Amino acid sequence: MSNLTFGIIKPDAVAKGHTGKIIDKILASGFQIRGMKLIHQSKKQSEGFYAVHAERPFFGELTEFMSSGACVVLALEKENAVKAWRDLMGATNPAEADEGTLRKEFASSIGENAVHGSDSDENAAIEISYFFSKLELV
Ligand code: ADP
Ligand code: MG
Repeated sequence: MSNLTFGIIKPDAVAKGHTGKIIDKILASGFQIRGMKLIHQSKKQSEGFYAVHAERPFFGELTEFMSSGACVVLALEKENAVKAWRDLMGATNPAEADEGTLRKEFASSIGENAVHGSDSDENAAIEISYFFSKLELV
């Protein structure tokens, strides 16, 4: 099990001014931030990132949303990082997210759900390298 995962503070959460509060919770939960930057993706870049969802009915909506404003991309380190970060994020649908999770507190809908997290070690490595060069990781 890898100790690295990839996260995004999505455009809804950045636009609402929740970035600092989310970073605070990430650090309080024991993650080390190994990479972090503010970016504004193009539609093409977000389509590339979410290519696995290309056939899903919400792909257009999702990639519009992810390229609609600035977001914060993160490389996060913790033991068993993929699961630890998904646990902190909570369920995809905020209506089903547990108390104390980021999506419970900050997400407004299943689409605009505040944060992204990798779903496997393999995808974490792919997603980190999609946004970060080696020099940008500490
Ligand atoms: P997760 O982000 O929890 O890993 P998925 O990989 O299933 O969830 O979906 C990727 C993203 O696509 C979600 O975080 C959400 O922004 C969006 N999404 C998922 N399901 C829906 C849906 N039914 N309608 C609109 N957007 C959705
Ligand atoms: Mg996913």
